[in-house]
Amino acid sequence: MPEPAELERRTTELLGRLIRFKTVNPPGDEEAAQLYLKELLEGAGFECELLYAVSGRPNLVARLNARSDGPRLALLSHVDTVLADPAEWSVDPWSGEVRDGLVWGRGALDMKSQTAAEIAAVVSLAEEGWRPQSGELLVIVTCDEETGAQHGAQWLCAEQADRVRCDMIVNEGAGQVIGFDGRRVYGVCVAEKGVFRFKLSTDGRAGHASLPRIGENALTKLAPLIARLGERRASYRLSPEPEALLHALGVDPGDGSDPALARAIEHVEEVDARVAILLEPLLSVTLAPTMVRASEKINVIPSHAELSVDCRVPPGLGEDEARGAIAEVLGDDGYRIDFGETVVGNRSAIETELMGHIREFVATEEPGAEAAAVALPGFSDSRWFREAFPDCVAYGFFPQREMDLFEAAPLVHGADERIPVSDLGLAARFYAQLVEKVLR
Ligand SMILES: [Zn+2]
Repeated sequence: MPEPAELERRTTELLGRLIRFKTVNPPGDEEAAQLYLKELLEGAGFECELLYAVSGRPNLVARLNARSDGPRLALLSHVDTVLADPAEWSVDPWSGEVRDGLVWGRGALDMKSQTAAEIAAVVSLAEEGWRPQSGELLVIVTCDEETGAQHGAQWLCAEQADRVRCDMIVNEGAGQVIGFDGRRVYGVCVAEKGVFRFKLSTDGRAGHASLPRIGENALTKLAPLIARLGERRASYRLSPEPEALLHALGVDPGDGSDPALARAIEHVEEVDARVAILLEPLLSVTLAPTMVRASEKINVIPSHAELSVDCRVPPGLGEDEARGAIAEVLGDDGYRIDFGETVVGNRSAIETELMGHIREFVATEEPGAEAAAVALPGFSDSRWFREAFPDCVAYGFFPQREMDLFEAAPLVHGADERIPVSDLGLAARFYAQLVEKVLR
């Protein structure tokens, strides 16, 4: 086991280095960062490959084999980031500066920190002479996550499946501590909601806007539907992930019916409204109107109006549930629905060997705290691995103790993204312990 202070120092230094590679996607430009990581891993004895779907944007796959069969454990991360506007930041977003015990820069949370912690952990172990006793250790660093993974994980799982096949995978998605009512809960992302985006349209008849009643205004027909989306919600229903989280937070879901869950949410709201904001979407289909269009001209009454709605559906459920929720909130008539992008949400089992290791780590690092399953309202690269390898257990876990979920969430994709050095040390310890335990 690498010495903790040294591991923390090494992770901090590597994160700073990674932030200084500007990998804003688009265009991504991940090659220089990937070459740097490849050299680092090769120096420690890993066998590395750069796999390109397009030139200049490699994915890195590094492996350490054992002589005997056993589980294949993969540590996954992506090295691209979203953009940053330096004018909004108090430091240069690509400086990787350490200030007040934190590393600052784009990617400090999402997710060069995890790349750094995973790689610092396994490189330190390998340099000490550690090797898997059975199975295989994989380190997979993808490109192109932030714009949909077409050249990254999606491509790897479809076109290079044999090179990235694994039984367990640890990715991003959760791990920051949630404080609630005296409890401390570390989220483990075991599932992701599906996306069922649609256009909601109303129809009328065009006419000159100077004579409002000469036509039939599609936009004023749309207005009450928009209002309903703001006022009403789809029924709550319990699924395994929110059930586990409610339990860990000490909140009683009752019989799991809509009224019982509404009471549970009300209670959470009274104790800490921030937790309710995060918890509620896990209990239902959500419908968020985001874009609207109608007439092309200010003096023409629109014959057609169109609202874009970002709809998220709990893991495993599909279009029927989305349609059911829409009817529940909007009623049955007066509009048309056209689904655009649809992706069914995915999940891994909650009770697994990997969860056991995570629970053990949390209990050791912070006695009294707990690890609990959560679902992500959005999605990550885990989705491609769960789809390609149905038996693979994929979790999002990057433990963070000093900076909690409420502090970290607004910094992801935001200004002044930063991470405490102590949390980098914590995460690197977790990855080092995990690979030793799984590949023993
Ligand atoms: Zn990310």
